[in-house]
Amino acid sequence: MSGVIGIFGTKRQNVASTAYYGLYALQHRGQAACGIVVNDDGVFSTCKDEGLVSEVFTSEKLSKLTQGNMALAHVKYGIEGYGGRENVQPIVINHIYGSIAVAHSGSLVNAYDLRLELEKKGSVFVSKSDADIIAQTIIRERLSVDSIEEAVALAMPRFKGSTTIVVMSSSKMVAACDVKGIRPLCYGKRDDGAYVIASETSALDAVGAKFVRDIIPGEIVVFTSEGVKSNTDACRKVKPALCVFEYVYFARPDSVINGLSVHEARVRIGTALAKSHPADADVVIGVPDSGIDAAIGYAKGSGIPYEIGFIKNKYIGRTFIVPGQKVREDLVRIKLNAVSSVVKDKRVVLVDDSIVRGTTSAKIVKLLREAGAKEVHMRISSPPFLFPCYYGTDVPSKDYLIACQHSSDEIKRIIDVDSLGYLEQEFFEELKSENNCGFCTACFDGKYPTIAPTYTGKLRFETKLSERTEK
Ligand code: 5GP
Ligand code: MG
Repeated sequence: MSGVIGIFGTKRQNVASTAYYGLYALQHRGQAACGIVVNDDGVFSTCKDEGLVSEVFTSEKLSKLTQGNMALAHVKYGIEGYGGRENVQPIVINHIYGSIAVAHSGSLVNAYDLRLELEKKGSVFVSKSDADIIAQTIIRERLSVDSIEEAVALAMPRFKGSTTIVVMSSSKMVAACDVKGIRPLCYGKRDDGAYVIASETSALDAVGAKFVRDIIPGEIVVFTSEGVKSNTDACRKVKPALCVFEYVYFARPDSVINGLSVHEARVRIGTALAKSHPADADVVIGVPDSGIDAAIGYAKGSGIPYEIGFIKNKYIGRTFIVPGQKVREDLVRIKLNAVSSVVKDKRVVLVDDSIVRGTTSAKIVKLLREAGAKEVHMRISSPPFLFPCYYGTDVPSKDYLIACQHSSDEIKRIIDVDSLGYLEQEFFEELKSENNCGFCTACFDGKYPTIAPTYTGKLRFETKLSERTEK
């Protein structure tokens, strides 16, 4: 998924610090790597590396970035096999008419084909990043047109998958969203006249920008010294498909997407869950962080009191995002601890956002049992996760999805709960009508909004590269 923030200022200023604060508010979207590129009148300075925002940007490193009137920044979600400094975004490329920096949220399903095509025409890649393919495609288009926004408009239809991008040229910032609008993007304005483009409104709030509006599926918005221009030529031709997990899990609860508060959506999901899957219980608790809002909703819907059942160590990133199964398992215990006075001898409703591999749930239930919970009734604020996601999350194959390998009854036994209830997919219809948009629910029903990827996971580049000479 990843997070993007772009700042288009009106004067030369310490734009790196704005980007830095914005990245902090997007850290939940990716913890593998991050970067900031500052644009000082066409001269780019870059600081990027693997690690959290707090780790990568020391005051010394930040001070080395120049002042500027624009900055583009990115937090990267860790996908196994895509580590390495060379893959950290924003990707900066110099071409005959100047430089561009590209930051991308999402994932291309035709990365392999596009890259092969570019390489056959002479492009050279130093990274495996989709953003690199996006940048090189845009630059090729730029050779035949007069502006970066025209180049982006020509390039966008070539990208299949989730392609929410912000492109910074020497004098402009271009924000674009794929026709399905799989990942969110919005922009706001600060009192000093600076525009801020971000994956979520939480980042606008953090840097004092007032929300202006969401960038709609298919739209290309250009920020120049003359103001803001929108190209909607590609909009409203196909049904939008915002990733429903943005509401369920990815986005921060204080963010608002398409006019619907993420917190509010989660509370309503929890309330619906209480109606469809009631439980005889004494207390409702949520798995921090993303299970909390739905747990509050469940308590509201059921009348069972909500309590804080777990304390989360705030200083550890999302376990799921750490690539590699072994590390993931060890981290759960360090990350969470049950509040025994809340759960001891109680019948507990435990609300979490999703069961993907099932590793987390089993560990969490064990923690509750050890803390003395009498019964554990697990409620999941999404339907069973049955199909891999190709749009920017690290869920590459059915082999890893517990709901594909086991029945609900078996899962109940594996994670050791007294009852298990999932949200009905129909509920999303209600959210959909409210926020005036369509959802991608492919992970539940396999109805993918784009073509399927040529290759998935690590195979996208490594293995297939060796076959290239034959093509
Ligand atoms: P698992 O069942 O795979 O052990 O863990 C599921 C938990 O991982 C979820 O509750 C959720 O909070 C977290 N998680 C982290 N990344 C993702 C993701 O990309 N998709 C989903 N659905 N959940 C994720
Ligand atoms: Mg979770």
